[in-house]
Amino acid sequence: MTSKYGIIGGGIAGASIAYHLSQRTDDPVVLFERQSPASETTYKSVAQYGFYGDETQYRMKRYGMKLYNEFFRDHRVNPRYTSMGILTVSTEPDNARRMQEAIQKGGDSYFGKMGMGFDRDLVEYLDGGEIKEKLLLPPVDDEPIKGALFRPKVGYMDRPQELAYEFLERAKEHGVDVHSNTAVAEVTTEGDQATGVITEEGEEIELDEVICAAGPWNTEIAESVGVELPVKHTMAPILVLQPDDQSDYTLPAISHFESPYAFHRRSEDEFLIGYNPGDVYDDAGRLDPNTMSEKVPEEIRNEGIELLGKLVPDLIDAKVVEEWVGIRSITPDKNPVVGWTELEGFSIAAFHTSGIQLAPAVGKMIATQVLDDDPGDYYENLSIARFDGYTDYRT
Ligand SMILES: Cc1cc2nc3c(=O)[nH]c(=O)nc-3n(C[C@H](O)[C@H](O)[C@H](O)COP(=O)(O)OP(=O)(O)OC[C@H]3O[C@@H](n4cnc5c(N)ncnc54)[C@H](O)[C@@H]3O)c2cc1C
Repeated sequence: MTSKYGIIGGGIAGASIAYHLSQRTDDPVVLFERQSPASETTYKSVAQYGFYGDETQYRMKRYGMKLYNEFFRDHRVNPRYTSMGILTVSTEPDNARRMQEAIQKGGDSYFGKMGMGFDRDLVEYLDGGEIKEKLLLPPVDDEPIKGALFRPKVGYMDRPQELAYEFLERAKEHGVDVHSNTAVAEVTTEGDQATGVITEEGEEIELDEVICAAGPWNTEIAESVGVELPVKHTMAPILVLQPDDQSDYTLPAISHFESPYAFHRRSEDEFLIGYNPGDVYDDAGRLDPNTMSEKVPEEIRNEGIELLGKLVPDLIDAKVVEEWVGIRSITPDKNPVVGWTELEGFSIAAFHTSGIQLAPAVGKMIATQVLDDDPGDYYENLSIARFDGYTDYRT
């Protein structure tokens, strides 16, 4: 079999790349997914969408939001978005004061977790005492909360996998060949050039461009062709909780500034407890997605539930009905690593988390590079060559 463009991975990244290529070329595009599309990180995502991050990310998210607006208006499958805002609470008076100063002064790198920067307009500081005067949060105990930042312009995709399906349906309408349950076993090379892939069934496919969008498998696949990625992993466990009573209000997501825990609503009657150790690139390692247990480690489970009990006591008796452990890919500077690598014909799409929000712009950038031989708008901030010791074949 020959094709022109081959994509490894059918998560949100591979799906967006397939869609963007399909909108621009009639040349054959083939996508390989070792399982069902979007059944890995994309499925396990909390899928929040919010305008924080540096200017590059802000602009990428605007592109993504515009495209998702088009998708929701005329959808092929069943994506859903819920707007709810996020409240980042501090239980330490010193941090609460710094939050307040950051808002008054207009930015503080200490609050990187909130991603202050380019988009600072819709963030409000709330003193502990005024939280319940300004927001409807009946079950929240505001006593331990010394201060909080509220970002209203944040929501979440209820079923992020549906967004990947949406990309794929549209890509298929334009001729993309999607092979589910087809794992790529090898990327073939000749000299300094990628030439195709071999599937686990032994089928060889010649390709002009191999695009690796394999989520947590990216590092291993890239290494197999001699490309080292500045990408590490952190564990991303989730507990799904079901309270006894359905609530008749929508809580914002609540993130605890002093710990890695956050609480999110998932549906009418389910909440998630998530764990994100943050931007810990130097201390992080690589996790093996093939052997990762789906069970949330006991310590994280207990700490998360205990904190939830402190901040939202009404939920303390909620039952854990589901759990999983995803892998968050992270980069040294919090931006994705996208596009050309040192191996000609082998491109990469790897995120620093945030893939649900950034995949649309990433798909567009890859299409620009492989179809137009043009680095694209975000090259300086997304190319692997921005890091010391890394190059792409064009630099
Ligand atoms: C718990 C959690 C919470 C998150 N919260 C958010 C959030 O709030 N907002 C946000 O924007 N992002 C969030 N993220 C990050 C976001 O979900 C990811 O960045 C995004 O889903 C990654 O998509 P992907 O397509 O790169 O990877 P994946 O979805 O993992 O897709 C990669 C695909 O490649 C396939 N594959 C691997 N190897 C091969 C092979 N050899 N051959 C064929 N196929 C292969 C896999 O089966 C997989 O389906 C979160 C992630 C987690 C885990």
